[in-house]
Amino acid sequence: MTQDFETRVIAPGSTIGIMGNGQLGRMAAFCAAELGYKVHVFGPGADSPTEQVCAKATIADYSDLDALRAFANDVDVVTFEFENVPHDSVKLLSELVPVRPGWKCLHLSQNRLREKTFCNDHGIGTAPFEAVRSLADLKAAVAKLGRPSVLKTTEMGYDGKGQVKITDDTDLASAWAEMKDAEAVLEGFISFEREISVIVARGVTGDTACFCPVENVHTNHVLDVTVAPAEIAQSLSKKAEDIAIKLVTAMEFVGLLAVEMFVTTDGDILVNEVAPRPHNSGHWTIDACVTSQFEQFIRAVCGLPLGDPSHHSNARMKNLLGDDIDGWQAILTEPTAKLHLYGKAEAKPGRKMGHVTWILPKKD
Ligand code: AMP
Repeated sequence: MTQDFETRVIAPGSTIGIMGNGQLGRMAAFCAAELGYKVHVFGPGADSPTEQVCAKATIADYSDLDALRAFANDVDVVTFEFENVPHDSVKLLSELVPVRPGWKCLHLSQNRLREKTFCNDHGIGTAPFEAVRSLADLKAAVAKLGRPSVLKTTEMGYDGKGQVKITDDTDLASAWAEMKDAEAVLEGFISFEREISVIVARGVTGDTACFCPVENVHTNHVLDVTVAPAEIAQSLSKKAEDIAIKLVTAMEFVGLLAVEMFVTTDGDILVNEVAPRPHNSGHWTIDACVTSQFEQFIRAVCGLPLGDPSHHSNARMKNLLGDDIDGWQAILTEPTAKLHLYGKAEAKPGRKMGHVTWILPKKD
């Protein structure tokens, strides 16, 4: 990759290529348009949330090399709203066009073992963990980390998919069978006081900007509510931001990185996982911050100066899953509620259909 590729400023008027066509791409495309860019989206499935609002769409599989080549020729920079794009595809794109964040960052965040090892190598705490590639490994790992513990596939898991909690009653052979022979990681169970996340941007010149830490409440392993800012001590808040900045800097990351963390019952902060893209826990920033996570994402990826991430209001964000979307009319009558819908045709149970952010007075 040439130096020019790494630091090139992508000026307004250019075309941003986004891999992945869900709601994150849709909200990023709005901000790209506000700054004068066109978006060309790449992903499988017609009439996607992103396709509905952007200039151009390639509807193809992420491993369709011909489609990727044509896409790269049409865009000035490539970024991701979906990080599990095959490695070969990212490599091909990187040879043709600036790709931000770069393939090394994607490779790292695509695998829980690599991610946790990287954190620990940089002095950042995680749950204790052991690699598990067989039933024998699992037995040895459970003997070491104890019960309860959590067995997770190292790749492609999200929203609690590919995860089994190992309790006193769990049969290890059945737990291993659930991994379907995929590489896994066993994590010690963290007794946490709350879950928080920090979203940090890093520009092409190495400058960074953090949104304040927020608290995330999950229901059935899916994000339900985000409270912004997290009601934690100033010292913990600073520690969480420092971890996010340390990570993004060590990764030489360009773009937007979301860092999910546990605040443990003894007041420590451990990293759970990272996502190299806008994040559900940052949706509140659209309505309550000077610069939203989506605008910041576009700025970072295009090599523009980063915007001010500070919040002018506090906020509470709730995901609208499946039939929750039926409440849209009532939400619209609430004076402090901002409704965001993703244009998805079918409200399947658990599907993210939209979100609502309530704007709250900022506390001093
Ligand atoms: P993940 O897919 O890693 O984000 O995990 C989904 C959710 O499971 C997290 O948000 C936590 O609520 C819970 N969880 C995951 N790993 C652990 C752990 N090591 N200890 C306790 N709870 C966990």
